[in-house]
Amino acid sequence: MNQTKYIFVTGGVTSSLGKGIIAASLAKLLQARGYRTTIQKFDPYLNVDPGTLNPYEHGECYVTDDGAETDLDLGHYERFLDVPTSQANNVTTGRIYLSVIEKERRGEFLGKTVQVVPHITNEIKDRMQLLGQSGDYDIVITEIGGTVGDIESLPYIESVRQLVWDLGENNAIVIHLTLVPYLAAAGELKTKPTQHSVKALMESGIKADILVCRTEHEISNDIRAKLALFCNVKREAVIQSIDASTIYEVPNLMLEEGLDVVALRKLDLPKKAAPDLKHWNTFLKRIKSPKHTVNIGLVGKYVEMQDCYKSILEAFIHAGAANETKVNVISIHSEYIDEINVAEKFKDLDAVLVAPGFGERGIEGKIAAVRYVRENKIPFFGICLGMQMSVIEYSRNVLGLTEANSTEMNPETKNPVVNLMESQKTVTDKGGTMRLGAWKCEIKPDTLAYKIYGQTTISERHRHRYEYNNEYLDALQNAGLKASGINPDTGLVEIVEVEDHPFFIGVQYHPEYKSTVVNPHPLFVNFVAAAVKTRKK
Ligand code: GLN
Repeated sequence: MNQTKYIFVTGGVTSSLGKGIIAASLAKLLQARGYRTTIQKFDPYLNVDPGTLNPYEHGECYVTDDGAETDLDLGHYERFLDVPTSQANNVTTGRIYLSVIEKERRGEFLGKTVQVVPHITNEIKDRMQLLGQSGDYDIVITEIGGTVGDIESLPYIESVRQLVWDLGENNAIVIHLTLVPYLAAAGELKTKPTQHSVKALMESGIKADILVCRTEHEISNDIRAKLALFCNVKREAVIQSIDASTIYEVPNLMLEEGLDVVALRKLDLPKKAAPDLKHWNTFLKRIKSPKHTVNIGLVGKYVEMQDCYKSILEAFIHAGAANETKVNVISIHSEYIDEINVAEKFKDLDAVLVAPGFGERGIEGKIAAVRYVRENKIPFFGICLGMQMSVIEYSRNVLGLTEANSTEMNPETKNPVVNLMESQKTVTDKGGTMRLGAWKCEIKPDTLAYKIYGQTTISERHRHRYEYNNEYLDALQNAGLKASGINPDTGLVEIVEVEDHPFFIGVQYHPEYKSTVVNPHPLFVNFVAAAVKTRKK
């Protein structure tokens, strides 16, 4: 197949309808039918990437192998498809403007007035086709962030209109995701918001080919017929997306509704084989009928908002399925943990994960948490800041360096067991300047890490500025905190572990970004297994 086909997904009525999950589910079905499919997201905000955003604003920042700091929807794409994404899969308005303005400064538009139409829209169109032109994909699904009608979304909507016109109706289609709310007082599902949102889309020159309607109740045939008539789509193109108990059920729901078949028909593509979802359905069965249950504490400071730890929560679902175990993740605010209340707070926990994070708030609680689980032999898993906290805890309570700290928290500390790399010391810009993306790590034999990975060379994704300070390596190792994984290029310690403990491991990188349905991450799988093994009955 030479012509890459494009599917655009827009959203109407309200945000948070789950465009990312619908896009990922459709992609999953198309992939399972044998189409090489990828998904990209265009976000309408002016940050060049979400790396500088507070997690409370936009949820977790997801990191790709090539070191792009991206929207958390890319995590869903990878978890569903098991295909890595890259910087090209996430573009923001900030990035578009930056590149147009840089071109203007270089004189690439010399003599011309640079305008939203055509310069910004052309830049958007070029980027929308970048992955398609790589030759790696038969179908590219593009999710447009925001809601139709927003001022910010206009250049994207106009670019989609032009692309459908340029490429032809059978090569580019639009799926519009809307809400069909249920009014309890009237006891009815209401179609008007959807009608208005489709009208707003039409005013911008776009005719939706498929409507995906989010709903809490079954949409009757009458309502489907009404939506089709008033929104100008075929009856078969009104797709119901009813609330599901897990996001991993959505591909099957979309299959039942025929979303993939309708999309393929519009794109003039053959159905090929029925989607092969055997592995996916085994996974679903396992999460629905677990044999065991464990309670795992997630110690962090962003616990009020689930999206801040999205990839960790999903990695627990994958690892739970692998262990036929339901993992109850109990969020515990690190700011409210101390040496005195920790025993009470952790009394029902089978294992504890100390989460990534930035800044001083809540770190003493994380250190108290690590001490408690180390001394009480409760399985522990520290990620990034969580690993750094385990280094500080060990230095303070085992090595006796009572003031040990990270220079992130106390630049004047006498014992900077975690500090800035030399190359970070001159960095002043905050955006895109951390140690980002995939780095190699060599694992030492006869370690827990080796037992878990079963190989000596691994590659994992990073997002941090501070590092284990090698000046303390000998002292810490002699005292029992083993450095079991080392970056072969820089000598930086990437994994620490404590022997004589059921499971105590800290990693400087973010394994959660690489956990997928098909490939649950071995660290999470083994951590959950350890919790099952040592759990309180
Ligand atoms: N704040 C720490 C650092 O920058 C850890 C970052 C993280 O947990 N992602 O090194």
